[in-house]
Amino acid sequence: MRKLSLLLLLLVLSACAVETGPPVSPEELSRAQTEIWEIKLREYLHCEDRVGRVLVRILPVTEHDEPHPWFLVKIIDLSRTPPEVDRALSRIFAESLPEKGYLVTFVHPALKRQGLSPGEVIQHLETQRLRLGAPVRLTLADGRLLSLKPPVIYTEPVDFRIVDSPEPNAWVTPENRMYVTLALCRTLPDDHELAAVVGHELAHLKRGHLKKQMTLLTLRDLLGIGVYALGGQTAQDLYRLGANFALLKFSRDQEREADFYGLWYTYRAGYNLEKAAQVWVHLAAVLPPGGPSLLSTHPPTAERLARIRKIVAAIRSGKTFEELRGGN
Ligand SMILES: [Zn+2]
Repeated sequence: MRKLSLLLLLLVLSACAVETGPPVSPEELSRAQTEIWEIKLREYLHCEDRVGRVLVRILPVTEHDEPHPWFLVKIIDLSRTPPEVDRALSRIFAESLPEKGYLVTFVHPALKRQGLSPGEVIQHLETQRLRLGAPVRLTLADGRLLSLKPPVIYTEPVDFRIVDSPEPNAWVTPENRMYVTLALCRTLPDDHELAAVVGHELAHLKRGHLKKQMTLLTLRDLLGIGVYALGGQTAQDLYRLGANFALLKFSRDQEREADFYGLWYTYRAGYNLEKAAQVWVHLAAVLPPGGPSLLSTHPPTAERLARIRKIVAAIRSGKTFEELRGGN
């Protein structure tokens, strides 16, 4: 009995010894959440800006087709964001944002020149089919009316999404959308390397590798993506349906072709080929082995690396695209 009371006394004393400090008020908690969101969103917006600029440079040099209008504008639907996110966004863009509307986060440079910039809020977007030469009309929160003429591109346009995932990865889906994870932006701080991955993924899309793979997917998957695409976008969204495509294994020949065309696109878009060629080596060096990362679907084998060196040397020696393709 005495032993037990001694034990209880000890327990009480040890509980008293823990100093928890002053309690945190709901306002203080909310402020801290806003600060966390601000850091997260700044990283997200930076990644979106980098991927957007790389895509704007590379997509026009991919294979030619008939002309298409390319309305590349990324938005966050403010009606779907929690108050902490709204406050963080207001701090980032240094203005108070309305509760509803679409906050513009990335704009194709050609549309930027026509008056639409990141930080502006679209209140109303005229829903219409994009047609060549036809302007897109929109109303901004400040009451301005804009009539934007989308740039023309001689290949099918590609949209992109940034995925808040700790897994460094990038993939494309049959509805011409590219997904890049925040972790990939973090792992590849050099735009030349990021461009190599974007080029490689675009090559899978433009060389028709995905259409051959599509039979593996159910109609439900595709419909799910379609419905999702109608909604807005927040940094919280994980695009689980789209992520199924990240697990697709292409054949070795398709990977060879994507390496080849990816580097060719990267070169034609004016990126540094040597840095771009380094990307798989860099990823192999910094990413943990195993796991469902970009490396499990793109193993940096000796054969692959040697072949990439050969492609770079051939492009550098001034060989034409046809000569390169012929293996001469
Ligand atoms: Zn690939």
